[in-house]
Amino acid sequence: MSYWEKDIETATRANLERFQLERLQTTLKFAKQSQYYNRLFNKEGLTPESFKSIKDISKIPFTTKDDLRENFPYGFLAVDKKDVIRLHSSSGTTGNPTVIFHNKHDLDSWANLIARSMYTTGVRETDVFQNICGYGLFTGGLGFQYGAERLGVLTIPAGAGNSRRQIKLMQDYDTTVIHTIPSYVPHLVDVFREMNLDPRIATHLRILLIGAEPHTEETRLRIQEMMGVKAFNSYGLTEMNGPGVAFECEAQQGMHVWEDCFYVEIINPETLEPIVDGEIGELVLTTLDRQANPVLRYRTQDLTRIIPGNCPCSRTHRRIDRIKGRTDDMFILRGCNIFPMQVEKILMKIPEVGNNYMILLETNNDVDEMIIEVEVKDSLLLDNYSRLEKLTRHIIAEVRNEVLVTPKIKLVETNTLPKSEGKAIRVKDFRNQY
Ligand code: AMP
Ligand code: ZN
Repeated sequence: MSYWEKDIETATRANLERFQLERLQTTLKFAKQSQYYNRLFNKEGLTPESFKSIKDISKIPFTTKDDLRENFPYGFLAVDKKDVIRLHSSSGTTGNPTVIFHNKHDLDSWANLIARSMYTTGVRETDVFQNICGYGLFTGGLGFQYGAERLGVLTIPAGAGNSRRQIKLMQDYDTTVIHTIPSYVPHLVDVFREMNLDPRIATHLRILLIGAEPHTEETRLRIQEMMGVKAFNSYGLTEMNGPGVAFECEAQQGMHVWEDCFYVEIINPETLEPIVDGEIGELVLTTLDRQANPVLRYRTQDLTRIIPGNCPCSRTHRRIDRIKGRTDDMFILRGCNIFPMQVEKILMKIPEVGNNYMILLETNNDVDEMIIEVEVKDSLLLDNYSRLEKLTRHIIAEVRNEVLVTPKIKLVETNTLPKSEGKAIRVKDFRNQY
């Protein structure tokens, strides 16, 4: 079956906006059935009929993660509980998790979006798809599973971890497409090497789908080089289903947001005013095709920009740039605002640097410092004092240039830094709290 939904994916802006308005009105009718939005609409005097253009969406107040948490678990539920068939939740480190409920319609719509997204990168029903992802409350497992089945590929629900087994599965069934988080790929490559295999020739892989965590273009290039195939960026969040919100097409020039199902805005996170296309701000999303749990003008805390202009693939759905960071993963060190991805971008450009790093923030003698532990590719370098010195000085200069703070650098052997279970943790903050 073809998941190139041409009429939708290449619709003119005017048609798309008309369609979005219709869907917004339906969404608002569902939303009004939830406790939270019912209260909000009454307070603000909003009725679904009063929306005459999609731009009227700006009349709705933003929804935040705190709103979802404070109304946990059923405050946002907009249909009868007997019609809900699944929930997914995103584990916060503190407090209530964020939970999203789905009815049959919602899961159907989501599977369609994933099938469309996979098709966009070139996956076809003749492919063999291995989903290297946790199955469970995390959306990457079941989300991709049902989407891939919808597309009609042979799916291997491999789950996360056990790299030797993953490689065996790839070889036994001639896997051609894998989906995983980017920070897992270097680890997988190490295991290939331990098994005396070169991933570029030992498999039939042709497409990698990577997402769910921030990574730089430099990291993507490394992944492509190590695996010998193209890697496509997949963006999503539990509050908007999970994966299948925005996806790169074969052009690899930003991720198309599926605007028939999500309304996109970029705002200034401080003033909450809209930001013009091309400028970086906080991504705000509204579900346009969800019944059980609509979420309106959700502040994702993810920082990105709309990429101006048209995509060579002819799709008209606007593209967002790769996520620069989250408003809550920025840290302030000696008055400078720093995102971990700024550091990653520098490190991954330096050929001697390996694929893993960790940023430690510490207070030493009353001074806050950034210590970056960096794995080197070739451990022999650590025995060569002058090369070690030179590399250290180079990293310090490049990082200082980018973030305006002078870091301390600790070069360590490959495979010595801790690997996270699931999404990578890049920063540990041990600073004294004043
Ligand atoms: P969760 O709902 O727990 O899966 O987390 C969703 C969050 O993961 C998003 O809000 C982003 O911060 C991050 N994320 C998901 N996909 C990407 C991606 N492709 N690039 C960068 N960050 C991502
Ligand atoms: Zn495109």
